[in-house]
Amino acid sequence: MANRIICAAAVALVGGSVPAIVAGSEAIGWAEGENGRESATNSELQFEQLQQELKNRGFAVKLEPPAQQGAYGILEPSTRTIWIHPVVFELGIALPVLIHEGVHAAQVCAGDGMVATLQLDIEPPNATRPFFLRYHSYRRTIEAEAYAVQVQPDAYERVGQLLEQHC
Ligand SMILES: [Zn+2]
Repeated sequence: MANRIICAAAVALVGGSVPAIVAGSEAIGWAEGENGRESATNSELQFEQLQQELKNRGFAVKLEPPAQQGAYGILEPSTRTIWIHPVVFELGIALPVLIHEGVHAAQVCAGDGMVATLQLDIEPPNATRPFFLRYHSYRRTIEAEAYAVQVQPDAYERVGQLLEQHC
């Protein structure tokens, strides 16, 4: 059914605790964390490591604007290709966007080419609900899982475990 995953919205954790919600090109409630510079460096390193991890598992990661206007990230299951819009680096949300797409990658692995839900034991926070409630049925569950993971304090470790487990 959902053969093309499009993610036009992303939720980022800034400074490790304050959820900043970003939709389309407009940032809502954006806040600079106290350790902004330090965590940015760490985020950059984790972004590169996750990018490599995805490549190792057969996913191409292109740092190019996705075909879908307004989207920060897209995963196309049929070609196992992820597009990450370069603007996410300026916005400081590159890591959560890649983690989000990384969850979709694990879903593709779990579905063996199709997209399957991962039956996670975590719920997405209410702040993220507007982003996936616009989807319906199966697609809603797929997106809810990606948002649930990307806002966890240990989101980076979790997506690594999901890739390990399913890919
Ligand atoms: Zn998504």
